[in-house]
Amino acid sequence: MEAPFGVRFIVKTTINDIGEFGLIDRIARVLPTSPSVVEGIGDDCAVLRVHDRLLLVSCDMAIEDIDFRKTWMGPDEIGWKVTAASLSDIAAMGGAPLFGLIGLACPGETEAHYIEEVFRGISNAMSRFGAVVVGGDTSRSHGPLALDVTVIGTTTGSRYLRRGGAQLGDLLAVSGFLGQSSAGLHAFEHGKQHSAFRISHCHPRPRIAEGQWLCRSYAVHAAIDISDGLLQDAAHLADASQLGVNIQTELLPVSEPLAQYCSENGLNPLDFVLAGGEDFELAFSLSPKEAEQTLHRFHHEFRTPVTIIGEFTDRWAGVRIDEKETPLRGFEHFRK
Ligand SMILES: [Mg+2]
Repeated sequence: MEAPFGVRFIVKTTINDIGEFGLIDRIARVLPTSPSVVEGIGDDCAVLRVHDRLLLVSCDMAIEDIDFRKTWMGPDEIGWKVTAASLSDIAAMGGAPLFGLIGLACPGETEAHYIEEVFRGISNAMSRFGAVVVGGDTSRSHGPLALDVTVIGTTTGSRYLRRGGAQLGDLLAVSGFLGQSSAGLHAFEHGKQHSAFRISHCHPRPRIAEGQWLCRSYAVHAAIDISDGLLQDAAHLADASQLGVNIQTELLPVSEPLAQYCSENGLNPLDFVLAGGEDFELAFSLSPKEAEQTLHRFHHEFRTPVTIIGEFTDRWAGVRIDEKETPLRGFEHFRK
C-alpha cells in the first residue's frame, strides 16, 4: 500500500495473524536440514537415520492455564497427560518409545513435592509404554508451570507410517471414541463431575501397540494421532497426501456416555467428535479392498472399537463433512 509522499506503511505480522501452523511454516523456512533427516518438520515425529536405525523423535509442551489447570488436574495427571501426548506421536508413526527428556520451568515458590508428583506421572506413562526418562533441564519461571516432554523412539519393523501416504480411494478410519476428552474439559468448565470423561481428559492412553499393529499391516497407508480434533487432523492427512477427504457424519462413532451427556445438556455430540482435541486416538487411511478384514482383525486383537468414517478423494483439497465445506475447526494455538 502506498501512502502519500511515498511513505510506506509497514504492516507487522503477529503470530495471532498467522496462527500456529502459519508460524510453523515460517520457522521451517529458517531451519536447514541434513541428509540424516528422513522426515523433518511436518509429521508427527521427526524420522532420523543413525547408522542403520531409524529414530523417531517428538516433543510436546504444556503451559499452566493454557493447556491445563492445576485446579482441575492433579500433578501426576498433568505429568501423565503431557507425556501421553508426546508418546501418542510415536504411536502415530507405528514406533516404539525408548527414552524421555523433560524440560520444566516453575516459580521458586512451588512445593517440591508437587514437582515430584508431576514426575511420578511422567514416569508412570513412560514406563507403561516401555520408555524411561534419562534427563532434562529445569529453569525458573515468573508465572506458570511449563512442561516439555521429548520422546525418542525407534521404528519397529521395515517401515513407519507417515501422514502423507494416503492413496486415492482409501478409506479413513479411527480407533476408539472421539470427543470424550473435550467433553471432560466442558464438564470441568461447567463445574460438573463426570468420571469417564475425567479419565479421557486427564489420563489418556496413547495407542502404542495399536499403532505398531497398523504399521505392520500393508493395507494401512497413512496415520496421524488425533490431538487437535478430527477435522484438523484429518485435514493434515489429506494435505500431506495431496488429496481431499470426506467425513460422513452418520458413520462417526459417538460413545454412549457422550450421547447421554450431550442430550442432558442440550449439546451436539458431533461438535465434540469433530472438533474436540486430545483424544489421542489414531486416524488412518487404508485400502478399501482389505479394509473390512483388517479392521476385523484389529478389533479382534485389541477389543478397541475401530470405525470407517470417510474416504479420500481428488475432487477437492482439505476436509469436507458430508461433501460440504464446514466452518467447524479443531484446536490451533494463537487462532482467536
Ligand atoms: Mg500428532
